[in-house]
Amino acid sequence: MSDNKVRVRFAPSPTGGLHLGGVRTVLFNYLFAKKHNGTFVLRIEDTDQNRYVEGAEEYIINCLKWCGLNPDESPVVGGPFAPYRQSERKALYREYAEKLVRQGHAYYAFDTPEELEQQRKDIPNFQYGMAYRDGLRNSLALPEHEVEQLLNAGTPHVIRIKMPEDETVHFNDMIRGDVTFETNTVDDKVLLKADGMPTYHLAVVVDDYLMQITHAFRGEEWLPSAPVHLLLWEYLGWKANMPQWAHLPLILKPDGHGKLSKRDGSRLGFPVYAMNWTDAKTGELTPGFRELGFLPEAFVNLLAVLGWNDGTDQEIFTLEELSQKFSMDRVSKAGAKFDFEKAKWFNAEWIKRSSAEDLQDYVKAIFTAKGITVSDDASLLKVIDLVKDRCVLLTDFYDQASYFFAQPENYDLNAVKPKWTDAKTELFHTFVTQLQETQNWDAAELETSFKALLTEKGFKIGDAMLPFRVMLVGGKFGPHVFDIAVMLGKEETIARVKKALAAFTA
Ligand code: GLU
Repeated sequence: MSDNKVRVRFAPSPTGGLHLGGVRTVLFNYLFAKKHNGTFVLRIEDTDQNRYVEGAEEYIINCLKWCGLNPDESPVVGGPFAPYRQSERKALYREYAEKLVRQGHAYYAFDTPEELEQQRKDIPNFQYGMAYRDGLRNSLALPEHEVEQLLNAGTPHVIRIKMPEDETVHFNDMIRGDVTFETNTVDDKVLLKADGMPTYHLAVVVDDYLMQITHAFRGEEWLPSAPVHLLLWEYLGWKANMPQWAHLPLILKPDGHGKLSKRDGSRLGFPVYAMNWTDAKTGELTPGFRELGFLPEAFVNLLAVLGWNDGTDQEIFTLEELSQKFSMDRVSKAGAKFDFEKAKWFNAEWIKRSSAEDLQDYVKAIFTAKGITVSDDASLLKVIDLVKDRCVLLTDFYDQASYFFAQPENYDLNAVKPKWTDAKTELFHTFVTQLQETQNWDAAELETSFKALLTEKGFKIGDAMLPFRVMLVGGKFGPHVFDIAVMLGKEETIARVKKALAAFTA
């Protein structure tokens, strides 16, 4: 297959927020497409109207945008195989289901939901399949004329695949190698529903075929569906065009026991969704990595190495680098444990590596949300450079930098009051005078004269440096205190020392 024919797809159902496993599926599709100069398609699989959730499609599209993983073809940008929303393709699936019925690979089933419910009650582990289908109301069991009557009368019915008996089907998974299934273990899945909508099983095969998908990557949880899909590819006469499949390893809970779920996130206190998701029906908010303060570059990077590596110790990758280096044969079969501390490490590394200009808009947005307006962009850039090594999350910029733009309202009095003395009050009054007289507002010079004053008055450096910091910052943190003073400027530094002195001696 020549490179320029590679076509991959991400095919989410719009049923809720996007789990980080889903974003990793997007990422691997995207990277594979980029590596092979191929096309990345976004197809919305919304044929299950009962599970449809308002706003989910838009949310998914926005997540992809935030991560910088934009599709080449989608319901938004269109493309040669439009429409890309399966509900809008409803009319085209029936013909394939009917073809399967004519071939004897599928059949009409007229059982009502109530009848099926009864079967489930009567028979433990009931499956609609070879064991029971002969006793049920379907076109395999009923006489032909009755089936015709039912169809002519417009009786609601579904079309089910007829799973063959005693067959072994297999395919070659790009990650797992040869995978085999016994057809006897699989039930007769519904292909076309009573409302005329295809199920996932039929729609995914028809659309992968019609959209000329060459490689289909999806989560491991879809592996049990593969035998149904394989048979459909075969029965519809398309086997030669079947995409190469790769079932991606699960993302596991931090302890390695089972798939990481939404509930694990709230239990352990970290997000599992890409962005905040509010369920329109319940109003429930599920937190996302974006709002917690992750950079998209870091998020993409940490997902890339959950189950993939380039064969070296390298951990930090740009999207560009990943697009060149990614290959399916370095994706592991085993599930990858999610480690939130490591995820934060990636973010801290990305904040360190980003320029102040790159971070500026994020920081401004965080400040604005907290009511701090920054009018001087040049100062903001300097401040970002001063503190970015101390920030793990973008939201840390608020604690680490907001004091540059707003005087502290509260002070860490416990850090200063127990050791406060009248002599210190005196010292800082003198320091204020000294600051007022300082001509050259430079960090090194300020430090030299402050230290000289301390020596002259008989103080140790440590006795006065911490209170000075708390005066400017409010707490015991931040970069070099004289760098802070320089950033604040002479007037503001003096104002803060005076204001704090009042609070310390109150
Ligand atoms: N609609 C399926 C999902 O929600 C797609 C699975 C596949 O890629 O085949 O994940």
